[in-house]
Amino acid sequence: MKALRYHGARDIRHEPMDDPVLESDRDAIIRMDACSICGSDLHIYHGHGFSEDIGFCVGHEAVGEVVEVGRAVSRVKVGDKVMVPAAVGCGACRSCLAGNVLNCAFGQGSCYGLSARLQGVQAEAFRVPAADMNAVPIPEGVSGDQALMMTDALATAWFGARNADIRPGSAVAIIGLGPIGLMAVDSAFVMGAHVVYAIDPIAERRALAAEAGAIALHPQDALETIREATKGHKLDCVVEVVGSDATVDLALRLVARRGTVSVIGVQQSRRYAFPLERAFAAGLTFRIGTCSVPEELPALFPLVQSGRLRPERYISHRMPLSQGSEAYRLFDSREAGALKMVLAPD
Ligand SMILES: [Zn+2]
Ligand SMILES: [Zn+2]
Repeated sequence: MKALRYHGARDIRHEPMDDPVLESDRDAIIRMDACSICGSDLHIYHGHGFSEDIGFCVGHEAVGEVVEVGRAVSRVKVGDKVMVPAAVGCGACRSCLAGNVLNCAFGQGSCYGLSARLQGVQAEAFRVPAADMNAVPIPEGVSGDQALMMTDALATAWFGARNADIRPGSAVAIIGLGPIGLMAVDSAFVMGAHVVYAIDPIAERRALAAEAGAIALHPQDALETIREATKGHKLDCVVEVVGSDATVDLALRLVARRGTVSVIGVQQSRRYAFPLERAFAAGLTFRIGTCSVPEELPALFPLVQSGRLRPERYISHRMPLSQGSEAYRLFDSREAGALKMVLAPD
């Protein structure tokens, strides 16, 4: 088969790879129908990824069809259309049963496509461990595109908004308007925010947030405008979706006393000076981290089925897998309105 493989900074190649095989009775093999590129894939693309491995297959967002299952797999069967949440769990421990694969007792809470340990899904086919948990049949009323957006991006956006304690009537800011930030804007409105300030330097992305009902601001104007608009009170809830020191700092400056900052941008900073004194004085809640996708699905399936959330709106490009390296380049450069890049088999 062919797959997208990492060979170093800005060097992702579409090339042959061994077909995936069942490594356990509980595995399944999925033939990919569509996969997508995530903001976190760009960390790998830039050469400061999550391992030193070379030649591994990248990607952790995909939908497809089950083509083979191990003997112990009982819930999914050959021919099922499934989505694969980005990180995998054993499916049987206490944490997994609660939907929290990140704390899996068997240490399987790892993500596809970060190293050679669990090969990625930007491939014509891929192996899913503990398939009864990690291959989720796509429910009726959810399209393949919508399911693809739920494998990570929408779940992370919803989790980020939840972590910000957004309640009916909240005043909210979202910093960073890639696909996850834009879906965090939508999530905030579904949760009852009365106003959402959407902050990003890219005008096209601000326009999309404005279309969704947000007040769109350039980062340079955000603090001043929000201070004025709220008569100095600032905001109840701020979601940071970038992962840079400057944007975390802005989040901490925008939040009101007793407010909540939620950081979901992938962090690579090792030297951020957290303003403890200011946070203490303001009585802030600060939450940071990644989501466990299965935990979010019980809320997201009905919200998508009912049309309250329409994540597929943020798909900007569809390209064949063979043009994967060009798709990475476009997404990285943010050219041509690049948002969610979807790749399908040639
Ligand atoms: Zn992702
Ligand atoms: Zn587990």
